[in-house]
Amino acid sequence: MRNHKYLFIITLGFFLLGFVNIHFALLGFLCMIIPFVLLFRTKKKTWCQGYCPRASLYTACGKGKKWPSIKTPKFFINGNMKWIMLTYFGTSLFFIIMTTIGVARGMRPSMEYLRFLIVFPIPFSMPQLYPAMETVPWVTHLSYRLYSMMMTTTFLGFLLALIYKPRTWCTICPITTVSDIILKK
Ligand code: SF4
Repeated sequence: MRNHKYLFIITLGFFLLGFVNIHFALLGFLCMIIPFVLLFRTKKKTWCQGYCPRASLYTACGKGKKWPSIKTPKFFINGNMKWIMLTYFGTSLFFIIMTTIGVARGMRPSMEYLRFLIVFPIPFSMPQLYPAMETVPWVTHLSYRLYSMMMTTTFLGFLLALIYKPRTWCTICPITTVSDIILKK
């Protein structure tokens, strides 16, 4: 089964919706939940094989590029890179959860801006075309942090697709690494 070629519109739509209202970023949790729901139901990586909008974006990007791909380094396929990425993802998720709890308990202010790779603030204030959504500060904080993580990983995958084969990100994507661990068990 191959990813539907127009699924990448969902990825683009996700990032555009962040400009309408940042709270739409919470939809990003679906990209972490649905792959595992399908995995447990079908006992295979159904999401990766047929429904992942991000993979569709990388495939489209690979088709559009006008230069040859460099051979994917071995440490991406069989080496430590996937564990490094899983560690980044785990750390990022831990950071998101702990800071969100901190905001909910009034121990820290809500961070309402984007960050790249957890720590680098992006000097750009996201326009909010429809800002009128009544929420508590921790939800806004969680939305910005989740959007930042999705933006970082999508950007890295996009960069890899431009340099190497289109779906190089899939060799180190934390979703596939965790799926493989579950399937082995
Ligand atoms: S490995 Fe990651 S990016 Fe690739 S298809 Fe699976 S979930 Fe999508």
